[in-house]
Amino acid sequence: MSIATVNPATGETLKTYEAMGEEEIERRLQLAEATFRTYRTTAFDERARMMRAAADLLVQDQQDVARMMTTEMGKPVRQARAEAVKCAKAMRWYADHAEELLADEEPSDVDVKDSGATEVRVRYRPLGPVLAVMPWNFPLWQVIRFAAPALMAGNVGLLKHASNVPQTALYLEDLFHRAGFPEGCFQTLLVPSRAVDDILRDERVKAATLTGSEPAGRAVASTAGEMVKKTVLELGGSDPFVVMPSADLARAAEVAVTARCQNNGQSCIAAKRFIVHTDIYDAFAARFVRGMQALKVDDPLHEETQIGPLSSEQGRKDLEELVDDAVRGGATVLCGGKRPDGPGWYYPPTVLAGITREMRIHREEAFGPVATLYRATDLDEAVLIANDTPFGLSSNVWTHDEAEIDRFTRDLEAGSVYVNGMTASHPAFPFGGVKRSGYGRELSGHGIREFCNITTVWHG
Ligand code: NDP
Repeated sequence: MSIATVNPATGETLKTYEAMGEEEIERRLQLAEATFRTYRTTAFDERARMMRAAADLLVQDQQDVARMMTTEMGKPVRQARAEAVKCAKAMRWYADHAEELLADEEPSDVDVKDSGATEVRVRYRPLGPVLAVMPWNFPLWQVIRFAAPALMAGNVGLLKHASNVPQTALYLEDLFHRAGFPEGCFQTLLVPSRAVDDILRDERVKAATLTGSEPAGRAVASTAGEMVKKTVLELGGSDPFVVMPSADLARAAEVAVTARCQNNGQSCIAAKRFIVHTDIYDAFAARFVRGMQALKVDDPLHEETQIGPLSSEQGRKDLEELVDDAVRGGATVLCGGKRPDGPGWYYPPTVLAGITREMRIHREEAFGPVATLYRATDLDEAVLIANDTPFGLSSNVWTHDEAEIDRFTRDLEAGSVYVNGMTASHPAFPFGGVKRSGYGRELSGHGIREFCNITTVWHG
């Protein structure tokens, strides 16, 4: 895949980029290492000042940056602006909290004495240059979610962004630079994915984080494993959205539409499988389908648009194949299910019912506005279906029954459980998954500590 901006609403190639060559990559790796040596000694106040400046710039730039993202990957422009604002919030959150999250820890006097020490401290020190391999679906947020904590911890970042969002990738480098971060603190490597392996093997790169597909995650994790380097992986998801009889049905159906279709349905934490108790199944399905059909599909640069095109021709083809496979296997199409004529990689909001375990869509991630509906006869079956997936990113449950809430929070195999609401990340809460959704956590104190050398300092 070449490095280029191709407008998903038209299919037109707007800008192409030469990949950086070996010499330029070497120059940037040297710069990252040299910068880290001094940057790691800067005070939290100084880092926080620059991080807040970057947040301010991003808010000022939000109109332009939103249009740029929309043109590169097709998300509705309103959602693109919201993404920029959310990034600024996370940057400020880490500017405000990094020092306290990384403060030295003192074990209990009893344990200190027991070890024969007079004093023991646990100190969080930065690791060095961290490689971030990032996807196009939230071209700013996925990167900032890594960069804000990493830079606040004293690490430096090397971004290998998805090949279809080069302008956003270059914007991010420029943003940190304009905010006053030393050159080398955050650099974009305009390279194709095949260049990642060599970069990751380089001694100067200390760790890697990847958000994206399972094959990409596996490739990066296996090289990192060979090189004994720390990784955090945030891969796909096929999150359940369980609705039980005590739920507020109207609200659940309304939120279900947003939870499935935000970002044109291309979100790892989108609810994808809707598991509904049989007593309310028909009523929920009717409301949900009405909501899906009412979404406005149009040019993503229009303010009122709710669904734009998918990010790439391949993305639409992959989604279509999942739907076609399900239909061949006997699924019923309650709405959508057919690509429209005309330019752009549009795909309509689609609801499928009658899903069986044999269908690919039951176990693969549907990366677009396609929902699958399941009927559960009771709580046990709801839990069973919810967990019957290789993924374990997040989960959503709708019920006002305390015993059911306890059961879901005990048994759902996922990195989070959202009760009577939809999954949405927040800088203060850990974010990540289990099973094939990856490992490690981003955001919160857990996220900032992932790329730290947790050092025990023992005094005799
Ligand atoms: P990829 O996983 O291929 O891309 C994500 C990032 O990984 C990009 O920067 C990509 O670079 C890079 N990459 C890809 N392959 C490798 C590799 N072997 N070694 C190192 N880096 C690699 O996602 P796609 O865009 O192809 O989307 C495919 C599917 O992945 C989607 O349909 C969806 O299911 C899932 N996905 C999940 C995301 C999430 O948020 N969890 C985000 C994006 C996709 P390059 O662009 O140059 O190939």
